[in-house]
Amino acid sequence: MHWVFIIVLSVVFHLDADRVQATELPVTLPYGAPKIISEFHSRRGVKGRQRGSKHQGIDIGGPNGAPILAAADGVVVETDIGTCWGPTIVIDHGADRSGKPLIAAYGHLGDILVKTGQTVTRGQRIARLSNNFTKFRCISGVRHLHFQIGRSHRSGPKGSYWGHIKYLKDGKSATNPHLFWADGPGQVTCFRPATTYPKGTLTYPVPCR
Ligand SMILES: [Zn+2]
Repeated sequence: MHWVFIIVLSVVFHLDADRVQATELPVTLPYGAPKIISEFHSRRGVKGRQRGSKHQGIDIGGPNGAPILAAADGVVVETDIGTCWGPTIVIDHGADRSGKPLIAAYGHLGDILVKTGQTVTRGQRIARLSNNFTKFRCISGVRHLHFQIGRSHRSGPKGSYWGHIKYLKDGKSATNPHLFWADGPGQVTCFRPATTYPKGTLTYPVPCR
């Protein structure tokens, strides 16, 4: 009896290992929410290739022109066109519910619709995806948003930093974005215009159907 159990368990674990490692908490995507094509801490990239290190954000695919939404109220602290990352916005979303800073980097964008210093409200269109995904190496040839949460913005001189650590001091040890959804940890929450969401929480940075 035991060996059957062990085989079943190992099969389940094997199939699910990447996902469990990837998210470190179960994630529910509501109906109509665009899919996550590479999860937080996944070792698999958007084209299914092995990553050299754990993924530090979540990747969400979308069509040309797809709007990118502010995940909470905040202040734009940086806009940039990274040589590898492409157009990028960094927003200070204030404190999470435990009082720690929530700094979001929105990477691999097309057109940027906001300026540094600008105040944004949750759900506001801050950017669009575009057809630039072959132009910037880090976008890996698949049009998508890379959404990453850090605790510390790298302001001021960037030196030779590139990629996430150009924007977030803790780029290499990012925080799991699934911890902060308005509906609760692991409960991806679509932004709905007439809804009020608790402070210190995030809503999905792309529109749901
Ligand atoms: Zn990514």
